[in-house]
Amino acid sequence: MGILLAVGLPLGRYFAQQHTHPLNATEEYVQSRTENDPINIIVLVNHIVHDSLESKASDIHIEPWENYSGVRTRVNGILSELAILPLEYHEKICARIKVMANLASHEKDVPQDGKAALEGEEYAGVQLRVSVFPTVRGEKIVMRIFDPRARTFDMASLGFDAETLSRYTGILGKPNGLILLTGPTGSGKTTAIYASLGYLLEKYQNTLSIASVEDPVEQSLMWVNQSSLNPAREYTYIAALRSLLRQDPNVIMIGEIRDMETASIAVTAGMTGHLVISTLHSGSTSGVFARMINMGLEPFLLASTIIGVIGIRLVRLNCQYCLEPYTPEDYALHHLEVATSKEFVEEQLNNNRFLKGLGCEACHHTGFGGRGSVTELLPMSEAVRQAVLQKRPTREIQERAAESGMRTLWDNALQRVLEGKTTLEEIMRKIAADVV
Ligand SMILES: [Zn+2]
Repeated sequence: MGILLAVGLPLGRYFAQQHTHPLNATEEYVQSRTENDPINIIVLVNHIVHDSLESKASDIHIEPWENYSGVRTRVNGILSELAILPLEYHEKICARIKVMANLASHEKDVPQDGKAALEGEEYAGVQLRVSVFPTVRGEKIVMRIFDPRARTFDMASLGFDAETLSRYTGILGKPNGLILLTGPTGSGKTTAIYASLGYLLEKYQNTLSIASVEDPVEQSLMWVNQSSLNPAREYTYIAALRSLLRQDPNVIMIGEIRDMETASIAVTAGMTGHLVISTLHSGSTSGVFARMINMGLEPFLLASTIIGVIGIRLVRLNCQYCLEPYTPEDYALHHLEVATSKEFVEEQLNNNRFLKGLGCEACHHTGFGGRGSVTELLPMSEAVRQAVLQKRPTREIQERAAESGMRTLWDNALQRVLEGKTTLEEIMRKIAADVV
C-alpha cells in the first residue's frame, strides 16, 4: 500500500520544482502510475537505464538523500539530475540492480562490485559495471555504462586537427620506439590508445601481432591479445610484460607506466624492435622526461627511445542546434588578453567569433553536444633530444618543442574556440589551469 500512496502528489511536487524541460521516460513512467497500475521496480530500473543510454551518459548514480532517492547521470563529464524518487523506492531499486549484477542482495553494509549485461536485442553488448557502496543513509549505487555502440575507435573521431593527425599516424607507422600519452584521468587517453591500435589493425590487418596489458581491459578489440592485470595473484605489469616479450609481439600496449620497473621494461621493449604505446601521468607533454628521469631512467635511453608524446584533454563541444555569438566572462577575456593582446580580443569580439549553445531540446538544455579532444604532439626533434640528454628543465624542453613547430594544447584549444566548436570558459576550465 505504501507504494500506491506515494505516487501522485509528492512526485508531482518534486517534478514541478525541479524541471522546466519535458519529462524523460523515467519521470513519465512514474507520474503516469495509478493505484491500479502501481510502479513495477523492474520497469522503473529499465527506464532509468534506457534514459541514461539515450542521453549517452557514462555513469548512473542512484543515491539515498535525506528525503528522497536521487538518480543522476554523468553526460559529457558533468553530473545532472535524471529523476527524484520517493525514498521508499530506494532499497527496492538497489535490490533489483544487485540481482541484475548477481550480487548478494541481503548484504547491505559492505561494498560490492559486479557486472550486469542488459537484456534485449537493442542493448546487445551493453554492459554495466555496478558498484555498491554503503553510506549512513543506505546504499549508493554507481553504474558505469560500457556501450560498444557509442564507442568508435576511429582516429578521425578523436578530434585531432588534420596536421596533428597526419604527424601522429606517421609516428604510429614506425616499427619501434615508445609513444606516450599524457593527461588527467578521464581525458580520453585510453580511447586514443584504442584508436591508435585500431588504426594499426586497419592498416596492417593481421600481419601484425598486437598485445595489450591493461588494468583492467575496458573494451575488447578484435585481433589484439588483451590481458587484464590481477595484482591479487601477483600478475602485475612487470610480470605480464616479462612474459609478453617472449610472445613475439610487434606492438605492445601498456595501460599505464606507474613505476621504474614498468618504465624500464617499456623502454627496453621500445629499443628492441617493438612499438610500445602507453600512458603516463604528467601535467604536460614536456614534463614526461623529468618524470621518467625521476623514476631512475637514464636520459640517453629516453632520448633514443621515445618517438612522440601526446598530451590530450577532452572538452565539451557546443551544441550545433542552438549556437549563438556571446561575450565570454571577464576573467576568461582577461586571460586571453594576456595570452594574446587587447587588439586581438577586440577583433574576435567585433567579428562575433565567440559562440556558445544557448540550450535547446537537442542538447537537453546544456548548450553542449558531445565531446572532442584537444591535443598537443611533442615532436622528438634534434633540439628536444639534446635538451633531454642535457637534463634541461621541463620549461626549456617545452620551448624547444614549440620552436620545433609544436602547436601547444592552448593553441589548439583556442583554435577550437575561434572555430565556434567550444567556449572560451570551457577551455579555461580544462586546459588553461594546468598549461598556461
Ligand atoms: Zn542545443
